[in-house]
Amino acid sequence: MSAPEIFSLAAERVQQAQDFPILQQSVRGKRLVYLDNGATTQKPSVVIETERNFYLNDNANIHRGVHWLSQRATDIYEAGREQIRGFLNAARSEEIVFTRGTTEAINLVAYSWGRANLASGDEIILSGMEHHSNIVPWQLMAEQTGAVLKVVPINDRGELDMDAYRSLLGSKTRLVAIAHVSNALGTVNPVADIVAQAHAVGAKVLVDGAQAVAHQAVDVQALDCDFYVFSGHKLYGPTGTGALYARYELLRAMPPWQGGGDMIRTVSFERSTYADVPQRFEAGTPNIAGVAGLASAIAYVQALGMGRIAAHEQAVLAYGTQALLRVPGLRLIGTAAHKAAILSFVLDGIHPHDLGTILDTEGIAIRAGHHCAMPVMTRFGIPGTARASLALYNTESDIDALVAGIHKAQDMFG
Ligand code: PLP
Repeated sequence: MSAPEIFSLAAERVQQAQDFPILQQSVRGKRLVYLDNGATTQKPSVVIETERNFYLNDNANIHRGVHWLSQRATDIYEAGREQIRGFLNAARSEEIVFTRGTTEAINLVAYSWGRANLASGDEIILSGMEHHSNIVPWQLMAEQTGAVLKVVPINDRGELDMDAYRSLLGSKTRLVAIAHVSNALGTVNPVADIVAQAHAVGAKVLVDGAQAVAHQAVDVQALDCDFYVFSGHKLYGPTGTGALYARYELLRAMPPWQGGGDMIRTVSFERSTYADVPQRFEAGTPNIAGVAGLASAIAYVQALGMGRIAAHEQAVLAYGTQALLRVPGLRLIGTAAHKAAILSFVLDGIHPHDLGTILDTEGIAIRAGHHCAMPVMTRFGIPGTARASLALYNTESDIDALVAGIHKAQDMFG
């Protein structure tokens, strides 16, 4: 399907949902209302067809083969890199490294850049709203290098305390690793400001864009960040895909972190030399079909327009916020002034897991629990939340179904 066709198909909200075959089914006899997009998004037909077409017509290994199919597969793979470069507005395609997702991209930076650049007493600043995948790799690296973690606290609305951030920055700060958008709260952090302040003390900045890229346009040059990471599956693309953006000079100076085929220049038993970037960081056969699917997912959202997607989601978010605030006994967790399309909440007398189970009987999919952000739950003194996370295909009617489901749960719990 060409980009203009996708665009006209997606012009109306109802038609957007039609692009996603999985959403056409009913669950337990009810219309499927999918509100678990923060965990993973559904895939439009064009992504499914692209992966299928790759295996039907183009499948071969990349870079190694002299033959026609291998060249085709290589071209598709490298076109995917260029697609991501354009999507993030990176200056050059060598700055894009394919990974299995956000988690692997953060580990790559920790094990390569971190091991080479962190020493005892150096400081890494994280925030209190990080996903575990932007905490644990830095803890592991701190254990190995003697570096120290510092945490920016969050206020009652779920926003970063920027005064505290300023006071944590200093001559020992080597890295600031921060979520662009919080998966548990929906908060959109002021990344450009965070980066400017970190650079003023000579620190690098890694931005976890897992929850950002599907909801707003991202420009890594405008943000001026050093590393930006995201997962394809949260952006309407296949699971097991994602990317690391890293500033070229920084990436070029980084040592390999995984060894194997494709990342070397020469190998002997005495010594090996390594390929240029980005291949130095792509050991082994990658997810080539997945990259094709991710590139088509990006083409799909670009054809729709990130601005239009953001405007639509913000309208549904505003409707949902008002609707939930009218529910007696409901408390929203995360009320930042600048939010992406995530509604996290707790209900008096009903555990989030019980609510999730009752909503499931109505065909409504939400997530319940700590959302891999336990420190956020500790900060708010709760075991977990119920989370409705929106995507481009959600509408006000999905919110109405959610609210009706919540009322049903409240009736059951008396
Ligand atoms: N960072 C954030 C903010 C997330 O929401 C997630 C996933 O929920 C991750 C990192 C990890 O992403 P993945 O499991 O795709 O590697």
